[in-house]
Amino acid sequence: MHEMAIAQGILDIALAAAAENDAATVARIKLQVGEMTEVEPEALTFCFAALAAGTAAAAAELEVEVLPLVGRCRDCGREFRVERFRFLCPGCGSAGVEIVSGRELRVEHLEVE
Ligand SMILES: [Zn+2]
Repeated sequence: MHEMAIAQGILDIALAAAAENDAATVARIKLQVGEMTEVEPEALTFCFAALAAGTAAAAAELEVEVLPLVGRCRDCGREFRVERFRFLCPGCGSAGVEIVSGRELRVEHLEVE
């Protein structure tokens, strides 16, 4: 259940931002989470709500955008969606695949009031 640790990290960032801006509340948080992090958006939202209760972020709206896992073949340059962690190029069959996106875990947008 790594969502709890991630939710704590997000809450820390949000509360620090609110404090820095002399804001009373955190209104909205938008997160981008890569598919490879295996974060469950529902679990993350649930954990965040539990941790944020009683803080300046208690009423914050948490939006989680899941970014697909995309690989690029080092041999033929093809970009493709990686399904079920099969890192094989569908074009030439090469296993020389680098990850283009899917490892993200970042606060993309944060609104304080
Ligand atoms: Zn290829």
